[in-house]
Amino acid sequence: MAFLSQTDLRGTRPGAAELAASLPRPEVDVAAAAEAVAPVVHDVATRGAAAAREATERFDGVSPEHLRVPREAIETALRELDPGVRSALETAIARVRVVDAAQVRESESVEVVPGGRVTQRWVPVRRVGLYVPGGRAVLPSSVVMNAVPAQTAGVGQIVLASPPQKEFGGLPHPTILAACALLGIDEVLAVGGAQAIALLAHGADDLGDGRGLEGVDLVTGPGNVYVAAAKRLVRGIVGIDAEAGPTEIAILADGTADARLVAADLISQAEHDPMAAAVLVTDDEELVGRVEQELEQQVPAAEHHARIAEALRGRQSGVILVDDVEQGLAVVDAYGAEHLEIQTADAAAVAARVTNAGAVFVGPFSPVSLGDYAAGSNHVLPTGGTSRFAGGLGVQSFLRGIHVVEYDRDALAGSRDAATTLARSEGLPAHGTAVDVRFAQEQDERR
Ligand code: NAD
Repeated sequence: MAFLSQTDLRGTRPGAAELAASLPRPEVDVAAAAEAVAPVVHDVATRGAAAAREATERFDGVSPEHLRVPREAIETALRELDPGVRSALETAIARVRVVDAAQVRESESVEVVPGGRVTQRWVPVRRVGLYVPGGRAVLPSSVVMNAVPAQTAGVGQIVLASPPQKEFGGLPHPTILAACALLGIDEVLAVGGAQAIALLAHGADDLGDGRGLEGVDLVTGPGNVYVAAAKRLVRGIVGIDAEAGPTEIAILADGTADARLVAADLISQAEHDPMAAAVLVTDDEELVGRVEQELEQQVPAAEHHARIAEALRGRQSGVILVDDVEQGLAVVDAYGAEHLEIQTADAAAVAARVTNAGAVFVGPFSPVSLGDYAAGSNHVLPTGGTSRFAGGLGVQSFLRGIHVVEYDRDALAGSRDAATTLARSEGLPAHGTAVDVRFAQEQDERR
């Protein structure tokens, strides 16, 4: 039985909406999950740490001794970290720092009219909560991807939450703690899922160690559907980044693509989650046959073969057959994949024309797995087609733009007509008066 179902768009010219509806999507119902976790979020908002603790016992089957991870546990995790893993984490941190340093935004000041200036100041969010998944897979790389852009932006206070692990005495996974130590993060919570998001957003009077937890201003980070749902519920009380749900890979490939690599890359993302999406868009039916042969060989050999097979055979994965790369581009733009690989002739030129994707990986030597860990790019990316309106996590996610307006008397005089006329036309004459009053004294004096 083939791994990937097929949708044949050859010879058709569907409109954008029709096209979007015909593409494979996971059955991720964030709204239903939000209904399920709303009582948990509400309970944590009102009862604080005790409610978070009860939810942890219920959903994680563990009763952590400390909701706030003791500093010694973080230090011990770094001391005991495998040197190879430490070196790989340090490489990842250094590379993301290089990319993020180039994203730092300087204040820009514009003289709009002589004597009238607007300055755009970029100000970091004061206190942020970073979520790092730790359910099915434990993702220390997500510590790096959350924390480095926050630190580069100049965020003053970082608190990080990750699910407690039974086999590690109710602490988050030691590699996650070690990654925190490498990045100088010492406020870490052993709590996951919706209860973690609620705790970060609302804070708590006492975490059980006699110390309170101050709520944050912004929560970022990937997670499962319950995490995404809880982020949706706290949005408005705090800021959130884009919803980052089950991972997705789309590959736009033509006859020049290497089937072995295409199959390996589809498998690599399917490995995350049975809900992960793996989509191949191609104009070459023979390539599809070769990729299927490769999947038949590579999937059974993979450690997580059951999860991978479920993801590849799920309704969210499949092959889309198109007439040519041109139609393929329309398909991948309609899909708006979290990760998009371009495996075609002249891949860079094709990639330059993509408008909807979380991140684009160009040519045979830029696999998504590299981006997951060590390309320097960020791996917290928009899923479910939300790349239409959202980008991945970056320095800008942790900055707010503030306009600073400074006009002198002459500049205001020259703007008076425009402001008062618009104020009158909007039926808000007091707005106009607030401008006119600044010149009233002079008029009185002249009289
Ligand atoms: P997770 O930490 O997101 O979720 C685990 C938590 O879910 C647990 O602590 C538990 O409290 C809660 N939970 C489990 N079952 C529940 C239930 N029935 N009701 C309420 N709460 C429940 O870890 P995970 O589950 O492994 O998910 C991580 C996800 O993050 C994967 O889907 C992965 O693909 C995704 N991811 C996405 C990106 C991205 O940028 N898009 C990056 C990395 C990971």
